[in-house]
Amino acid sequence: MDICEDIAALKRDLQAVILAHNYTLPEIQDLADFVGDSLELARNAAACRAPVIVFCGVRFMAETAKILSPDSIVLHPNEFSGCPMADMASPEQIRKYKSEHPDTILVAYVNTTAACKALVDICCTSGNAEKIISSLPAEREIMFLPDANLGRNVAHKLKRPMSFWAGCCPIHNRIQPEQLEQAKAAHPAALVLAHPECQPAVVALADHALSTGGMLKIARGSDAHEFIICTESGIIHRLQKENPAKIFHTIAPEPVCPDMKKITLQDVLSAMRNLAPRVELSEEVIRLARRPIDKMLAIQD
Ligand code: SF4
Repeated sequence: MDICEDIAALKRDLQAVILAHNYTLPEIQDLADFVGDSLELARNAAACRAPVIVFCGVRFMAETAKILSPDSIVLHPNEFSGCPMADMASPEQIRKYKSEHPDTILVAYVNTTAACKALVDICCTSGNAEKIISSLPAEREIMFLPDANLGRNVAHKLKRPMSFWAGCCPIHNRIQPEQLEQAKAAHPAALVLAHPECQPAVVALADHALSTGGMLKIARGSDAHEFIICTESGIIHRLQKENPAKIFHTIAPEPVCPDMKKITLQDVLSAMRNLAPRVELSEEVIRLARRPIDKMLAIQD
């Protein structure tokens, strides 16, 4: 049997569900029961009644699955797959900020650890950040954490002043406007889709600023034949698979998140065989972190 057949057999035995983020390795995406962006994966985890969830994405995403499905065993096949941006906000820093700004609403991008989520007022994803911020009382101060780029892009779109944490996604933040200008010059007919974790100067050059889920939707529905995709390049696999007649260009150099590529087929097989490594969170953290996620999902719905 090859490794995918071994995994499929274990999946049946364990009644497991495999969830994967759009940036993971192509072979992981092809194996998964569901592939999506952070919001789609959070919804799927919440609706999932599987006794075992194998979460292929970075650690904070697997934690979110555990928060939303606390009775499931959540396997995170490679414990070293973390998100550098999520590590840019710590519970200690957030506690300190709250004590100094007791009236400020703390909005946390889902790219935060469970321990940080447990301390904030509401969560958002790149797919619903505008909707979440718009739902907050206009007279209240907002601190947006940890991604200053996403915060600035949303604040600009909504014309809403906010404070921003000093964090960013190193992969998206590295993309420079000149790189996108070069891609546009090389492919003048292409529709430009940029992730809002990119710097505002990059987003300003795009036709649309979207989560990866939003990019997939536009690519499916648009009459455009050619696209420039300004985000982590793992999404190209699914875009191309779903739209074989369309052309997708990444920018150069290709934005690659090493953490998103850490989970291999061998890791998945090993995790399912050993039922480890598991995501373990205290009941207290699950209870407190669920509140801002549920608030987000209620507004989104
Ligand atoms: S692409 Fe950026 S935000 Fe996503 S996991 Fe990698 S470092 Fe974190």
